[in-house]
Amino acid sequence: MREVFRRPRGTQDILPDQVSRWRTVEEKFRHWCGLYGYWEVRTPAFESRALFERTVGDATDIVEKQMFRVGPPKADEGRPEQKEKEEWVLRPEGTAPVARAVLENGLLSRQSLVKLFYVAAIFRYERPQAGRLRQHHQCGVEALGSGDPALDAEVIDLGWNFLNDCHIEGLSVFLNSIGCLQPECRPRYRQDLLNYFWQKESLLCKDCRRRLQSNPLRILDCKEETCQPVARKAPKSWEYLCPACQDHFSRLQDHLSGMGIPFEIDGHLVRGLDYYQRTVFEFRHMGLGAQNTILGGGRYDGLIEELGGPATPGVGFGCGIERVLLAMVPTPNEQEQSAVIDVFVAPLTKAAQKEGVKLLSALRKKKIAADMDYSEPKNPTGTEELRSLKGQMRQAHKRRARLVIIIGDDELTRNFLTVRDMVEHRQWTVAFGDAVAKITAYILGQRDPSLR
Ligand SMILES: [Zn+2]
Ligand SMILES: [Zn+2]
Repeated sequence: MREVFRRPRGTQDILPDQVSRWRTVEEKFRHWCGLYGYWEVRTPAFESRALFERTVGDATDIVEKQMFRVGPPKADEGRPEQKEKEEWVLRPEGTAPVARAVLENGLLSRQSLVKLFYVAAIFRYERPQAGRLRQHHQCGVEALGSGDPALDAEVIDLGWNFLNDCHIEGLSVFLNSIGCLQPECRPRYRQDLLNYFWQKESLLCKDCRRRLQSNPLRILDCKEETCQPVARKAPKSWEYLCPACQDHFSRLQDHLSGMGIPFEIDGHLVRGLDYYQRTVFEFRHMGLGAQNTILGGGRYDGLIEELGGPATPGVGFGCGIERVLLAMVPTPNEQEQSAVIDVFVAPLTKAAQKEGVKLLSALRKKKIAADMDYSEPKNPTGTEELRSLKGQMRQAHKRRARLVIIIGDDELTRNFLTVRDMVEHRQWTVAFGDAVAKITAYILGQRDPSLR
């Protein structure tokens, strides 16, 4: 027996009965992005490793242990003419690639505010568990070119309206500000946080003791039982904001209140990526267990500069599509979208099939959804040339075809075909020459009564 291939661990096949739900979410997302003036961008699935080291931060889990490496083919490895010494990785998050693309393509030299969205596969080498895959999918927005808190509010409002449109109930918005790089702002917070955690060092897990050296803010995110009570009593970042960040944060809250978006301040929300400044936020769904963040984002005013561009503020979010689907309240007609067709062509003999295939092609050119039965007879030399009319009618019924076109020897010799309306239970005949035009007109008339 040959080995059966299986998909890689932490990935999933999205089969046709699920794809309609995916498309619903993606279409809703595109719709809302359009209403807010965001344009779609598509970037490569792999990027330079340094792009993420520089922006996400080299002391983060993503960069330290979660990036899939992409290399040249074996035959090319180490060949002297292989000039590219660059290391590539599959995109582990969505923001840095978009910022790179904005800068590289000079989008900000043409307009002062660039508003983009993406729908993309994201790859992280993690231990797979419920709601966490090695390939997952995100829809996200990035708005670059303004530091105005009204733009932070717009981005949050977009996410809020999109997720509500997906019928997600029990969604909570958590908000925080982690300040800026001014010495009296986040650096002062970081120092106080460090002092606090050093006093509790013996209570921290191994990873967090290492984070004391590299990235103390990450300790606030630690899910270990020993670390959580320590983190809960830690100083809160919004208590350390400089006057400008304080003003930004309070204006953002005013905007959100004005928009009617309920939110809670979580002084320990940090999002753990180095590029965030000031605003960070998460939308959580209580029904999802440990992986309950559906959408997360924030402001990244230093990111473009970090990539070698001019100082450019920006804000955005990423939203996990798998988690949206888990949290969505199913609507009753979701199952209804299997391949429904207008016309089922049912030839009864091989000679009739020749005409049936031509008719099928002609109807599809007229944008009529049409299909036929392709099952081969069990005994090709036997008397039964094709599947019986009864069998074909069953197929037509399953596909919920409006019309069935029957072509038998009788029809062939007399140059007409039989049309049966499966809803009104009546049948009539049409000359071959008129068939395409008449069937098309009939179907269009059924779809739109004004054409009748
Ligand atoms: Zn500040
Ligand atoms: Zn820990």
